[in-house]
Amino acid sequence: MHNDIEKVVFSEEQIAARVKELGEELSRDYAGKKPLVICVLKGAFIFMADLVKCMDVPVELDFMAVSSYGASTKSSGVVRIIKDLDVSVEGRDVLIVEDIIDTGLTLSYLIEVLQGRKANDVKVVTLFDKPARRTTSMEANYKGFVLPDEFIVGYGLDFAEQYRNLPYIGVLKPEIYTDDAK
Ligand code: 5GP
Ligand code: MG
Ligand code: MG
Repeated sequence: MHNDIEKVVFSEEQIAARVKELGEELSRDYAGKKPLVICVLKGAFIFMADLVKCMDVPVELDFMAVSSYGASTKSSGVVRIIKDLDVSVEGRDVLIVEDIIDTGLTLSYLIEVLQGRKANDVKVVTLFDKPARRTTSMEANYKGFVLPDEFIVGYGLDFAEQYRNLPYIGVLKPEIYTDDAK
């Protein structure tokens, strides 16, 4: 285990099993369709890669980046598109892939943007959901795990751009957040 991690919340095996279930559910629900699967960078990149391997329908992939927390663990409430899609969503069945929903601000903004661009349907799959801190009415259509209000890292999720490559989900030791070198 990485030295900065206090405890592992979900192991690689637990994540893989849940991602497979989500992929099977999505394969059933999108049968006969060709969804445009949108990865919200950077946090969702590993989840999306693993999820689409478990989806048995033709998918098209695209990527979007929106402003996030930066080096803080609290949302600024400001959402900004940093990298936009390459393709048009008009008439498409869009599936947004998110790492985690916290306040819900990022996703409610994204959904509004994609609906404004006349997507046929916009659904959300998130690997993690932290409903305790929600400030919007945002609900994902598919969710992997529901979490208490705890800041997690690994499997794509960062703190100050670190720890995204950990294959499991963990909680950092408290001293990491107060260390000025981070
Ligand atoms: P929201 O807009 O829902 O408040 O925030 C969503 C984004 O904040 C997530 O996509 C993620 O990038 C970041 N975030 C929220 N909670 C956590 C967390 O526990 N750990 C990490 N690493 N990022 C989080
Ligand atoms: Mg995210
Ligand atoms: Mg982040």
